[in-house]
Amino acid sequence: MLEKVVIANRGEIALRILRACRELGIKTVAVHSTVDDNLKHVLLADETVCIGPAPSQASYLNMPAIISAAEVTDSVAIHPGYGFLSENADFAERVEKSGFVFIGPKAETIRLMGDKVSAIKVMKKAGVPCVPGSDGPLGSDPDEILRIARQIGYPVIIKASGGGGGRGMRVVHAEAALLNAVNVTQQEAQAAFGNPQVYMEKFLEKPRHIEFQVIGDNHGNVVHLGERDCSMQRRHQKVIEEAPAPGLTQKVRDRMGERVVEACRAVGYRGAGTLEFLYQDDEFYFIEMNTRVQVEHPVTEMITGVDIVKTQLLVASGEKLPFRQGDIEFRGHAIECRINAEDPRTFMPSPGLIKRWHAPGGPGIRVDSHVYSGYSVPPNYDSMVAKIISHGDTRDTAIARMKNALAELVVEGIKTNTALHQEILAHSAFRNGGLDIHYLERRLGLK
Ligand code: ADP
Repeated sequence: MLEKVVIANRGEIALRILRACRELGIKTVAVHSTVDDNLKHVLLADETVCIGPAPSQASYLNMPAIISAAEVTDSVAIHPGYGFLSENADFAERVEKSGFVFIGPKAETIRLMGDKVSAIKVMKKAGVPCVPGSDGPLGSDPDEILRIARQIGYPVIIKASGGGGGRGMRVVHAEAALLNAVNVTQQEAQAAFGNPQVYMEKFLEKPRHIEFQVIGDNHGNVVHLGERDCSMQRRHQKVIEEAPAPGLTQKVRDRMGERVVEACRAVGYRGAGTLEFLYQDDEFYFIEMNTRVQVEHPVTEMITGVDIVKTQLLVASGEKLPFRQGDIEFRGHAIECRINAEDPRTFMPSPGLIKRWHAPGGPGIRVDSHVYSGYSVPPNYDSMVAKIISHGDTRDTAIARMKNALAELVVEGIKTNTALHQEILAHSAFRNGGLDIHYLERRLGLK
């Protein structure tokens, strides 16, 4: 087993990783920025190293500082969490070249899957269905671009190959707007991701977002842990996630699961990963793969009993997956609400001092959070302060438990989006399940 692990992240996921390490008897090193010395996992870690000032660029994205921290603390591995450097192939490569284990896939796999165009190519080859589209990057010939769009049919969506975090996408409804949209997206993509390449897909009007969790080891074993429905989104960002996807039959789950496992085996996939699909009219369309642990991994953990972060650590130490596909059983239903420090109406971030914090509890409730009474949310990072996860035998029970949990939650000093979650959960449309990705914005009057 790995002896000592550097946790190259912050917030709830850093604490989540620390907890998994402790369970396995692994020592932890928390690397943090100057404003983060009061984070819960920093207070709990065996060792801490300050790696730079508040701006992420100078700390959580500072590769040499993180690798040096691993060196000076005699660590053996680095866990990147999600966001920050977690899907940066250059970082994975530098970590391994410096003699440490990168807890994630091989750098070449991250590179292959991180580029959406090449990921789609891999999936198509493995027989995974993809969105009808340009089949590769758009060239510079305007006539050719217009021709492709006509063939696909409007509306279309222009997407950056290197895009992420819901950025670098533009929907086009009519031919007159196409070439300009391609141009602007290319420029944005260059500025944001250092890669101007864009491609085109059919814009699906009422899809659900359904994703499959996979995990592989260094010995060619890959297992899927079922799917999650993450259709409740605002600005392409997930707000509520659940598992399993309402209404999906075991037969469809098995069939899709087999295909995604096959695709991952074909690329020698190692570690945790997620294949994201849009699902419309009973058909799946692959959109992208995330080569890391995801924010919403707990809903899968709740219904399968598999500890995904612990499994990441196990396979990173070279062990075989401790389970086979046939061992995975799906039990009940789980829902996750992302609690953000933001105004529930304007969505403006609301950092600052949390005067009082009381987390909910009771049967089937899990709270993954790094905050506490007296903790001050810095303005420099993501606004998520907690994930509340509810589990029950049925979806109705999970919803009822979540409602209780949200009502019990006390946060004073900062604004949170708790009221938004309560509104969504109270609505019969949500209770019925199976809503599409545009539902929330329609309901908020944003569409
Ligand atoms: P990112 O890497 O930025 O998360 P994705 O490719 O995963 O980008 O897309 C994010 C979200 O954008 C999806 O969950 C969906 O809401 C929307 N989206 C992406 N592609 C399409 C499409 N072809 N049709 C409709 N919506 C799409």
